Amino acid sequence: MTRNYLLLTPGPLSTSATVREAMMQDWCTWDKDYNEGIVMPLRRGLLEVAGLDEERYTTVLLQGSGTYCVEATIGASVGPQDKLLILANGAYGKRMAQIADYYNISYALVSLNETELITGEVARKALEEHPDTTHLSMVHSETTTGLLNHIDEVADVLKGRDITFIVDAMSSFGGVPIDIEELGIDFLISSANKCIQGVPGFGFIIARKDKMLATKGNARSLSLDIYAQWETMEQGKGKWRFTSPTHVVRAFYQALQELKEEGGIAARHHRYEENHSVLVKGMRELGFTPLLSDDKQGCIITSFYYPSQKFDFQDFYNNLKAKGYVIYPGKISEADTFRIGTIGDVYPSDIEGLLSAIRTVI
Ligand SMILES: *Cc1c(COP(=O)(O)O)cnc(C)c1O
Repeated sequence: MTRNYLLLTPGPLSTSATVREAMMQDWCTWDKDYNEGIVMPLRRGLLEVAGLDEERYTTVLLQGSGTYCVEATIGASVGPQDKLLILANGAYGKRMAQIADYYNISYALVSLNETELITGEVARKALEEHPDTTHLSMVHSETTTGLLNHIDEVADVLKGRDITFIVDAMSSFGGVPIDIEELGIDFLISSANKCIQGVPGFGFIIARKDKMLATKGNARSLSLDIYAQWETMEQGKGKWRFTSPTHVVRAFYQALQELKEEGGIAARHHRYEENHSVLVKGMRELGFTPLLSDDKQGCIITSFYYPSQKFDFQDFYNNLKAKGYVIYPGKISEADTFRIGTIGDVYPSDIEGLLSAIRTVI
């Protein structure tokens, strides 16, 4: 099966042929060969690539896209007496506040400019202003722009405080090393169709086991009750409460094998870094300027300014698509930008191909 085009987007992204082929069988959602043979090894595999032990950490898988998991985590971990502090610098950070609104959660939103990093200093100040904070949530890789926030500095600020740390690592987990235990992350959220390079259909939460247990009875949504989902998966050895996306789960199992074969998260990070640096060097040569300075920029997705007033993004997009490359529009209000993702089954040679294509359409 040849590709219709290469997705240079932050998910769904380009997957390998072997990941797509893994979806060619049907599986029984109640059978042992699926639950014990695929779901449980997959859950263990997630902890393994994250470098976590099963005594202290656990995982739960949940149907839906990544937002479902962010909502489920916030909705089950932040109780009626708690106070959530949200540090945001983009659309995904702000989405957490929308979730909190739906749940009538008491929260404070500290919303920075979209090109400003969340640092330790930002966290320290915000906590001074909101001393009653019980939970702090933020995005690691802010896909809105491509910013890579300093979760390590925020983690330092949180050390010694009794605050639950929730990290949306949707577009970074699997592609950027994150020492979950060292950073004291209590809930880390990601999804199947980002850096693990699976296909869309479910997300997952990696949590400290005691924090997962503490969510019992808190959820205000049946289908997004992460404790109930987790308990069923534990007791039923890989059973999902409701219909599980079997083909997607099987594809994810394959994607996780391929991550290990590549050499784990460090090796994948190295490839993404290379993709990103080939892209930025080539784009600069073609006259494009990245939105962010290099010290703020992650290797996941890069925003570029429109090169001139008369630049027509839709034409540019259509011309590149006709050559087999799909890129992404911008998502910020401050400037006219477009984005190019460098994650997925994508290699430096693919980026060279994209740059050649861009050369012919500008
Ligand atoms: C992709 C993504 C999400 C989830 O978005 P969905 O459309 O629900 O998959 C959340 N946060 C970040 C940072 C993301 O990149």
